[in-house]
Amino acid sequence: MSAVAIKGWCPGALRPMLSGDGLVVRIRPRGGRLDASQATGIAELAARYGNGLTDLTSRANLQIRGVSDEGYPALIDGLAGLGLLDADSDTEAQRNVLVTPFWTAGDETRSLAAELEQALASARLDLPTKFGFAIDDGSERVLGGASADIRIERDRNGGLLVRADGAQFGLSVARSEAVQVALALAEWFVASGGAKGEKRRMAAHLAGGASLPQSLRGDAEPVARSADPVPGLYSTGAMVGLAFGQMPQQTLSHLAERAQALRVTPWRMVLAEAMHEMPRDADLVTDPNDPALRVIACSGAPRCREAHADTRALASALASFVPADARLHVSGCAKGCAHSGSADVTLVASREGFDLIRRGTTRGVPVLRGLTRSDLVANPSVLMRGH
Ligand code: SF4
Repeated sequence: MSAVAIKGWCPGALRPMLSGDGLVVRIRPRGGRLDASQATGIAELAARYGNGLTDLTSRANLQIRGVSDEGYPALIDGLAGLGLLDADSDTEAQRNVLVTPFWTAGDETRSLAAELEQALASARLDLPTKFGFAIDDGSERVLGGASADIRIERDRNGGLLVRADGAQFGLSVARSEAVQVALALAEWFVASGGAKGEKRRMAAHLAGGASLPQSLRGDAEPVARSADPVPGLYSTGAMVGLAFGQMPQQTLSHLAERAQALRVTPWRMVLAEAMHEMPRDADLVTDPNDPALRVIACSGAPRCREAHADTRALASALASFVPADARLHVSGCAKGCAHSGSADVTLVASREGFDLIRRGTTRGVPVLRGLTRSDLVANPSVLMRGH
């Protein structure tokens, strides 16, 4: 057993997790953005102390894997030098803030993110580790499919609102009130028992019958949810994808050299700020029709000790059979680390083979059980039957 690992399912930098290939160290970029020197520094640290790859997670965090006990203290010193650490592990665990990557200079996104992160650092809310916030205050609501419990969004008239995930409407707020109301909602969640529920998430708490207090309930309707973005050029930069969210050292370093900064997203893509041509590195996914964008897979075996299968090898073998409008999620166990939401098809590995779930999550009811890798590769049409 590692001397420094603390087992759990939401690692941080200050509270790493032991996995099949060593420690997993997760970095939470402030405001969802890394400047070029931070991105270069992470690439160097991943090569020196990890396995050379930097993973982008579905919470828009970065992860260095394969870290040894001996290398961990030096890695932490390196991250501290890049300004990427929090004061302590509790502060780090509470700073779960997703930020729309499409902000522009002068709008309110960055200041809202900074204010929320600062408020979270000085509040002790005892939130569950997966509990998070989304600042999705652009004219398009792009984070609607990403995991968050409290959302700051816009209504059709451009006004700000704060919405509990799972509620149809939010409370209209002035800019100066938004963070305060978001924190009040988080406090209500804990005080009303949400942190003790089975799922410990806002939507499940509301679905289980919890009723928002009058002071936090509103009738402001958020703008319609946009489809998840695809790789391509945007006014703010070049959005590029990464198969399974993995970035080799050279790829991350090259992007950092050419972009002003990198904005991280929950879609396993990064937006290279102020880049006006698509980069052509072989490891980047730049074609919106690339089958790699249709599959999601967790680390799997041999990288994760909980895994019952090599998820990424199977997902790669099946990707070209997944229709362009569908998503296949391959999970090494029922925990579903790579994707907590629903997918058109979810394959969950167990000791007895793969369970296949349609339009559900890893916890859904399988329609087929005990499938082998060779069954699936030899007969991939079984995946999308009825799609
Ligand atoms: S979902 Fe995948 S990465 Fe998460 S614990 Fe299970 S096998 Fe490991």
